[in-house]
Amino acid sequence: MIPPNSPTELDEQRRQLAFITQNLEATFGVPRNDSHEDPLDELINTILSQSTTNINSHRAFASLKQRFPNWEQVRRARPASIAAAIKSGGLANVKSIVIKNILNDIQERRGALDLSFLKTVPVSEAREFLISLKGVGPKTAACVLLFACKRSVFPMDTHIFRILRRTGLLPEKISDHLAHEKIENLIPPKKHYSLHINLITLGRRICHPRNPKCGQCPLNEHCDFGRSRL
Ligand code: SF4
Repeated sequence: MIPPNSPTELDEQRRQLAFITQNLEATFGVPRNDSHEDPLDELINTILSQSTTNINSHRAFASLKQRFPNWEQVRRARPASIAAAIKSGGLANVKSIVIKNILNDIQERRGALDLSFLKTVPVSEAREFLISLKGVGPKTAACVLLFACKRSVFPMDTHIFRILRRTGLLPEKISDHLAHEKIENLIPPKKHYSLHINLITLGRRICHPRNPKCGQCPLNEHCDFGRSRL
């Protein structure tokens, strides 16, 4: 059990995250969110992106849309036809079944293949709905809510976990759920998307798993690991 932070510690961590957000924007720019506007498009796109590269998943999504212009057609299609359309994204047989089941589930529970209600219901309700769909985990749900619905949630991948641990904002041992909840609440308002994208960029370019380039890092003044190395 991790002891909760005191209000003073939380204020300090809030300031540290504001600094990190600002410095990353000064270094990498303010990223533009040009994701799908439609949450269902984004959900299917995120499922296609699992265990493959962005290029392959974008190809698979475009091919699926070309073969089936609307989601009702996908819902009624045979899994083998869906799999053929998304084969460039890998794991096509598994993903085709996941996608078909999700579409059936949404149709049954909502009466339409439309997830636009996720943009306006409370975040906790939106997240709960998405996670209740078979094959949708917390990270996929967070991606849909952040990218398409522009909600203040914060998907965390392996780059983000590594950097936040090194900076001292996350302890070594913390559950995924608690880590998401903690960081999500400390991020400056409306900066969740920017911080998500820029931390991934930092992880890819500078804060590598091995031999991070702390000397060139815009965060080194506010990073425990970086300060100990420089
Ligand atoms: S200072 Fe080093 S360890 Fe810290 S975030 Fe930058 S590259 Fe990573």
